[in-house]
Amino acid sequence: MKILVINCGSSSFKFRLFEMGKDHVEPLFSGFFDALNIKKFDPDGVFSHGRAAQLAVQALMDADSGVISSLDEITAVGHRVVHGGEKFVAPAVIDSDVIAAIEACSALAPLHNPINLEGIRAARHLLPDIPHVAVFDTAFHQSLEPKAFLYAIPYEYYTAHGIRRYGFHGSSHKYVFHEAAAFLDQPPEKFKAIICHLGSGSSISAVKGAKVVETSMGFTPLEGLVMGTRCGDLDPSVPFFMARQTGLPFDAIEDILNKKSGLLGISGKSNDMRQVLAAARNGDPRASVAVEVYVHRVIKYIGAYVSVLDGVDAVVFTAGIGEYSPDIRKRIMDQLSWLGITPDEQKNQQVISRNAVISKKGSTTQVLVIPTDEEKEIAKQTFEKTRLR
Ligand code: ADP
Repeated sequence: MKILVINCGSSSFKFRLFEMGKDHVEPLFSGFFDALNIKKFDPDGVFSHGRAAQLAVQALMDADSGVISSLDEITAVGHRVVHGGEKFVAPAVIDSDVIAAIEACSALAPLHNPINLEGIRAARHLLPDIPHVAVFDTAFHQSLEPKAFLYAIPYEYYTAHGIRRYGFHGSSHKYVFHEAAAFLDQPPEKFKAIICHLGSGSSISAVKGAKVVETSMGFTPLEGLVMGTRCGDLDPSVPFFMARQTGLPFDAIEDILNKKSGLLGISGKSNDMRQVLAAARNGDPRASVAVEVYVHRVIKYIGAYVSVLDGVDAVVFTAGIGEYSPDIRKRIMDQLSWLGITPDEQKNQQVISRNAVISKKGSTTQVLVIPTDEEKEIAKQTFEKTRLR
């Protein structure tokens, strides 16, 4: 059966069509619209997610380059939804109740859920007779126990306002955990892994028996690792002090912590790890220290997560930096000899975005590279959900 996956960002619309069977997944077609909702793209109004959805299905059916001749060939649509709160621990077939519940979670993800809903509405309008499934970024992390998800603030802020750790990038962590277990031929129920999703947004999770026991992103994606433009962990007093010192309103401070911090904030050069590494190699001291802060934070988390898991079978690198940067992987692995890791430096240099072990045989903890594929994971979950109906 053919499953269409839709992933709407604030100004982007990604789609991918898969041919799915019980044991195989084959991508057939993918497309991407960028810079949406920008007026200059369309003199009559904005180039919306709805318009992008229309163009996507036209492209799928294009007589020359398309892959289907009728929309009837699509069996189901999987939608990425960023926030499912505590309500969604698994994918959900979309109906009016599910839409209302996603709307209710919008307060927790005001930049994402409303956009995800735009994509859902547009796709349901175009494909009204097939199931649409919401797959949530937060769902895989719903296995966190209270000791890991509660912040030590008055309890009412959790019960009345939903303030707790949710975790994000869930589809990626889930996909990579299962791929790593399969690659090492380990049963997922027994496998313990630390998944390092190092991209523009970075997060790390400790997963035991396919259940997340810790994850670095929190109430929002701002917490945890250093990212392209996000600060990650911070003394909670810092934003108050910044506001008092500068007189800036809280919205502006929030913007600084989300969009002007991280690699960009420290280096003053770029939010892109490639550029920051290049500047560091050319002797730029701020770029150099930005990379060091980034790497140090990852190492700190790995140490903590080994304790939380009471030992680990594998450390896994994924996403742009994790898949494509032997340099960053080396800097991290070089600090992990205490964990019984001996890097295979030659292998590390060779492996770019493919499934591979990059530690030497005999390492008690193995290090892997596993390319992530959130859309494939959404397709798999959509397939399972609709097959079981
Ligand atoms: P997202 O999907 O969150 O936008 P990605 O997973 O694509 O992010 O990761 C983007 C990051 O990966 C950027 O910081 C980019 O510089 C980094 N990256 C990609 N290729 C390389 C490379 N060869 N060396 C170092 N960093 C890289």
